[in-house]
Amino acid sequence: MIGADATDKRPHIVIIGAGFAGLKAAKGLKGEKVKITILDRNNYHLFQPLLYQVATATIAPDTIVYPTRALLRGQKNVRFRQTEVIDIDVSKQRVITADGELSYQYLVIAPGSETNFFSLSALAEHSVGLKNIDQAIVIRNRVLDLFELAARESDPAKRRGMLTFVVVGGGPAGVELAGALSELIHTVLVKDYPELNFVETRVVLLEAGQGLLPAMPEKLQRDAAAALRQKGVEVILRGAVADYDGEAVTLKNGEVLLCRTLLWAAGVRASKLIEKLGFGTAGQKRAPVASTLQVEGHPEIFIAGDAAHIEGKKGPLPMTAVVALQSGSHVARNIKHLLHGRKPEPFRFRDLGSMAMIGRHAAVGRLPGANIRGFIPWLLLLAVHLLKLTGIRNRLSLLGNWLWGYLCNDKPVRTTIRGCDSCWKEE
Ligand SMILES: Cc1cc2nc3c(=O)[nH]c(=O)nc-3n(C[C@H](O)[C@H](O)[C@H](O)COP(=O)(O)OP(=O)(O)OC[C@H]3O[C@@H](n4cnc5c(N)ncnc54)[C@H](O)[C@@H]3O)c2cc1C
Repeated sequence: MIGADATDKRPHIVIIGAGFAGLKAAKGLKGEKVKITILDRNNYHLFQPLLYQVATATIAPDTIVYPTRALLRGQKNVRFRQTEVIDIDVSKQRVITADGELSYQYLVIAPGSETNFFSLSALAEHSVGLKNIDQAIVIRNRVLDLFELAARESDPAKRRGMLTFVVVGGGPAGVELAGALSELIHTVLVKDYPELNFVETRVVLLEAGQGLLPAMPEKLQRDAAAALRQKGVEVILRGAVADYDGEAVTLKNGEVLLCRTLLWAAGVRASKLIEKLGFGTAGQKRAPVASTLQVEGHPEIFIAGDAAHIEGKKGPLPMTAVVALQSGSHVARNIKHLLHGRKPEPFRFRDLGSMAMIGRHAAVGRLPGANIRGFIPWLLLLAVHLLKLTGIRNRLSLLGNWLWGYLCNDKPVRTTIRGCDSCWKEE
């Protein structure tokens, strides 16, 4: 049964999405006399900031996912349903899922975001983004498969195409992916493939703008580019992509790069569910919300995380885990206010800065009052990820993988294990 028990008269709160924002909202309502239903298409919570490490064979996929039901154990007023949310009927206060409908008194919409290929349909067809665990595994397998193919390819032009990896997008995700990919190739695969000439390998980072990491101060942007180049990444600024056919990427300036792999980290947009709701969309197709995170005209509906367009002091807040956690927490606080007859409060974002990993011993960070680069932010970022990752087993596994990788200069998860849903034949 997807709907709630009709005999249960407690207010029903439906939360769409068991990501950072949705889970934080649920946890914030612990102990309240309400029934909460969390809906997610997956049965796990994903720690997206470390997807690039799965994609580059550094850590195993199950290190950064955690079963949602296990996370909710011990919270009596919440239940979980794995299902796809298809639509919301706001006039009838009903959520429509692939498995039935649920009514709600309060609704928290936190479905996150997805890769934005803008209107470049050829790119969507031939490249892959890095937004979910399946994509991270596909990227890892693709890189390893192409090295195997290249090892037996006699045509040098074809081989170079196989060994050229283009990452598009100079934001944190693109920078981290390009840096880790270059390290995988030049420190580990170079030992696995003695038959290949590694001069033929290329990792190219294309950024349409003037600098990498646009949210960072200019000095750190330059430091990041220099550190990546030192690690063997070719950084091309003002390198906007015009087209890609799976074999060659064409830049808007006419330059053509032969590459069999294009990894798209150039944009995200709010989940497509948001567009369907009719609340209007702002930048990155996010839904505009009031300062209380409620939807204008629908005080019973809150939006949090990547799906919400929240105005901050210096413009719209970025789509980050920090914003998702803080906004999810605030939504819970405001729902409690409403339940207890109080007025909801405006959300105030606490900016804790931002950091990006470039590779071993290299990171840049904009912290309140200081810009840092090099070893210290690298260590700091590892510590933050370790502390923020869900589950003790996952943390130990992460630490073990990192220590092994660090001490042995290795990226240990170099197996192309693939799932096979079709192996299970339903009777
Ligand atoms: C590669 C990468 C690196 C990143 N690095 C950082 C970083 O270093 N620091 C940082 O602060 N942020 C980082 N981010 C951003 C951060 O991960 C996101 O901002 C954050 O996950 C947003 O949280 P959320 O709860 O809004 O959405 P999500 O965490 O995406 O959760 C949304 C949930 O909703 C579910 N869902 C979506 N649609 C439906 C539907 N129709 N039906 C059912 N379920 C649905 C999804 O399955 C998902 O579980 C990174 C993101 C990526 C992709």
